[in-house]
Amino acid sequence: MQDAWYVPRPPFPQAFFDELNAHRTEFPLAEEFVISVEEAGRAFIVKRGQTMRITCAEGAQIVDMCIWNAHDTRERFANEYSLTREGIWLQRDMRLWSSLPKLRPMMTVTADTVKNKPVHPGARHHYLFGAHCNPQGWYWVVKDREHPLVTHNNCYCNLTRAIAPFGLVAADLHDNLNLFMKCFVDAESGLHPWEPSDVEPGDYVEFYAEMDCLVALSVCPSASGRKAHDEEAPKPITVSTYDTGRLLPEYEDPLGS
Ligand SMILES: [Zn+2]
Repeated sequence: MQDAWYVPRPPFPQAFFDELNAHRTEFPLAEEFVISVEEAGRAFIVKRGQTMRITCAEGAQIVDMCIWNAHDTRERFANEYSLTREGIWLQRDMRLWSSLPKLRPMMTVTADTVKNKPVHPGARHHYLFGAHCNPQGWYWVVKDREHPLVTHNNCYCNLTRAIAPFGLVAADLHDNLNLFMKCFVDAESGLHPWEPSDVEPGDYVEFYAEMDCLVALSVCPSASGRKAHDEEAPKPITVSTYDTGRLLPEYEDPLGS
């Protein structure tokens, strides 16, 4: 593209991930669980060398996802550094980078089965910006301080409850990925309105862990985002981890940080 400049992307180990993807369906299942609508959020460890699949088994459901280094939670997913290198939409072979000073890959996307059918130009699923829904945001929707969406049933509260068993608190949350949510960027306003999701039952996204990760997921009360919040019930999601038996050599930072 003429007269356009891009932030450089560090070299990507394409051969490793092509080989991994060629064997993706053969890996033994390590763990599988369902996060119900009632539980609404859970945190768990994904070990280096494992893949993690998040499946909308019963249909479209927005999932908010946070990632920390399991051994030092000061290092966490940095969406701003990730999107400048990789783009704003999650896609295969995208790397999810950690916060400074490390700025190294935490996970790499290995699969996305959602078939995108944009209504507005450029609309896509799974984006790296936008963070999580929260009490203040929902208040301006329902205008009721006692409403469950304000008091506890929102992604901020779901994620905060999920990380408590790991000794983390709300201040440890970071701006997260928005999985299975579909939006476009309005060129005039710069806003990112949502449009109906194309997610079908059984669609999933999958990640390869490049380090031991603490992952937190929230089942968003917005459900699929296809309808108003009180017109559609959220759905449970299934989380599966697999032992790939493949370890990508640790990322080498050119500055040695
Ligand atoms: Zn939410």
